[in-house]
Amino acid sequence: MEPKQAWGAFSIIVVLADTIAVALLIDLEYEPVLVAAIALIALLVYFYVLYKRYHVEVVPENDIMQFEDPDDLRILCTIYGLESKGNDAELRNRLLAFARAHGDSAFVWVAPKTVQFFGTALEMPPTAGATRTTGAKSLLEERTKSEANLSRVKRCPICNAKVPRKGSICKECGADLGFYVALGASKVGKLVLSEKAGEVRRKLRYEVPSLREDR
Ligand SMILES: [Zn+2]
Repeated sequence: MEPKQAWGAFSIIVVLADTIAVALLIDLEYEPVLVAAIALIALLVYFYVLYKRYHVEVVPENDIMQFEDPDDLRILCTIYGLESKGNDAELRNRLLAFARAHGDSAFVWVAPKTVQFFGTALEMPPTAGATRTTGAKSLLEERTKSEANLSRVKRCPICNAKVPRKGSICKECGADLGFYVALGASKVGKLVLSEKAGEVRRKLRYEVPSLREDR
C-alpha cells in the first residue's frame, strides 16, 4: 500500500472520529457552535501536521551518494518505508532505486507503520496517476554555502555540543557539520536529524564512564 493511500484511509478514520465527538458533545448539550469550531480547528491542525511532517522531499541520487554514515542510510530507508536491513551498499542501492522511481517528483508522502496498517486494513484502492510535480532537487547543493556560514551555527545539530571555532567536524560526535546543517534545511533532513540525534545522544551517554568505575 502506497503511503498516500494509507494516509487517505487513516484520515477518513480521523474525520469520522472527529464527527462522532461533535455529535456526542452536542448531545451532551454543549454549545454546538463552540463544539463545531473546536472540531474544525482539530482537523486543521491534523492536516497541517500531516502535510508538514509526512510530505517530504525525495533525496536525489547525487545526494544519496554523499551520505557516508550507514546509520544515515538506514534512517532514510526507514523514513521512506523501505527495508532497513543490510550493509551500506544494499541500503544505498535501495535508496537509489527509490530516488529513480520518484525522480520526477520533488516530494513524496511517507507514512509510519501504524498508518500503513490502517490503510491495509481498509484496503483502499490505489489512485491512478500520481500527481506530478517538479523533479527532485538537490538538498545538499547549499552545502558549500552552509560550510562558509558555519560560524553562525552555534550547536551541533546531532549532539547539541558547542561547535568548534575552526573546522567543520563536531569534536563531540564527529559529525560533518556542513553536511548535516545543509541536510537539516529540508523536511526529510529534519526527520533524519531528529532520528540520528536520538541515537547519537544515547550512544554518548553510554560512553560516559560511570562513577563506580572511577573509584
Ligand atoms: Zn556533535
